[in-house]
Amino acid sequence: MPYLHPDGRGNRQKGVLPAMECERAEKLIQAYVRDRMPEKEMEEFIAHVRSCPACYDELETYFIINHAARYLDNDETASYNLKGLLEEDLKEKERSVRRKRHRNVFFSVLIFLLTVMLILFTMHYLNFIELPWLKGLF
Ligand SMILES: [Zn+2]
Repeated sequence: MPYLHPDGRGNRQKGVLPAMECERAEKLIQAYVRDRMPEKEMEEFIAHVRSCPACYDELETYFIINHAARYLDNDETASYNLKGLLEEDLKEKERSVRRKRHRNVFFSVLIFLLTVMLILFTMHYLNFIELPWLKGLF
């Protein structure tokens, strides 16, 4: 019997339409738990489970099952708070998504600035324009 989300419609009635559908999120739960999540899906997935208690519960269940065995074996201190562990894991992945996006923006800006500088230097060097702050350097 397929798992039905009790609040699958609730979200929509409240006007909070999740960007990702539950069906898609459910498929990604396995990927998340096994650390095989496609990077571009991560952010939307996290946003979905945060706004959808049904998917969050399901993710939590799989997460705990997946991690319980591991932690019960070799790390007793971590096993007492598996729910907190999922929260930590979600936060860490959110941070890494955000870091990556910041880095991309940073490099785009940097490359843009370098290109502009290069054009300015070249034009100055070829005497097309006069850059007062470069006088004497070239
Ligand atoms: Zn959902």
